Amino acid sequence: DGPAEGPSGRRRLGVMGGTFDPIHHGHLVAASEVAAQFRLDEVVFVPTGQPWQKSHRAVSAAEDRYLMTVVATVENPQFSVSRIDIDRGGPTYTVDTLRDLRALNPDADLFFITGADALAQILTWRDSEELFSLAHFIGVTRPGHTLTDAGLPKGGVSLVEVPALAISSTDCRARVAKGDPVWYLVPDGVVRYIDKRHLYRGE
Ligand code: ATP
Ligand code: MG
Repeated sequence: DGPAEGPSGRRRLGVMGGTFDPIHHGHLVAASEVAAQFRLDEVVFVPTGQPWQKSHRAVSAAEDRYLMTVVATVENPQFSVSRIDIDRGGPTYTVDTLRDLRALNPDADLFFITGADALAQILTWRDSEELFSLAHFIGVTRPGHTLTDAGLPKGGVSLVEVPALAISSTDCRARVAKGDPVWYLVPDGVVRYIDKRHLYRGE
C-alpha cells in the first residue's frame, strides 16, 4: 500500500515555493485547488531560504516561516513541508529547489505551482530554460495580476483558475504592524504564532 500513483505509475508531486512571511489562505487555497484539478498525490510547501528578490526588506527568520508553514498545513494529509531551501543556505533559486526535489523523489513528476505575479517573472529566474525540464509549471490566478503564459515554453505551463483571495503576506504584515486583525486571512494557528513570537510589530 505505497503512495498513490498516476496512470504512468509515477507519483504526482506538487511544489509550492514561497517566502511564507506569513503563509496565508491564498497560498493554501491555490495548493488545494491545483491538487484536486491535477490529481496530485501530495503538495510540498518549500519556504525559501534568503529570497534573492526580497533583499531590500528584512525577511523573518527562516525558522519562524518554516514553523508557520508547518502549523498551517499540519491537518491536511496531502500537504507536507520541506526544509531543503532553508537548510541549503544562501539565496534560494527555484532551479536548485527543483534539482534537489528531483533527486529526493526519483519516482515523482513535479508540478511547480506559482501565482500569476511570480509566473510573469519566471524568465528572470536563474537557469530559466532548465526549469521547464525539471517540472511542469502551473500558473494560478491571483487578484490584481494578469495570468498569462506569453513567452513561456509551449506545453511547459498550465494556467488554472483558483478561488480568488485578495490576500498577500505584505498586507498581513502591515495589518499586524497597525494592530489590525489577520483572523481569517491566515490559519488560526498562524495568528497565534505571530502573536506569540511578536512578529511584524515594528514595521
Ligand atoms: P509577499 O507580499 O511578501 O510577496 P505573497 O503573499 O506574495 O507575499 P509569497 O510567499 O511571495 O506570498 O508567494 C508564494 C507563491 O504564492 C507565489 O507563487 C505567489 O504568486 C503565490 N500567491 C501568494 N498569494 C496568492 C494569492 N492570494 N492567490 C494566488 N496565489 C498566491
Ligand atoms: Mg510575493
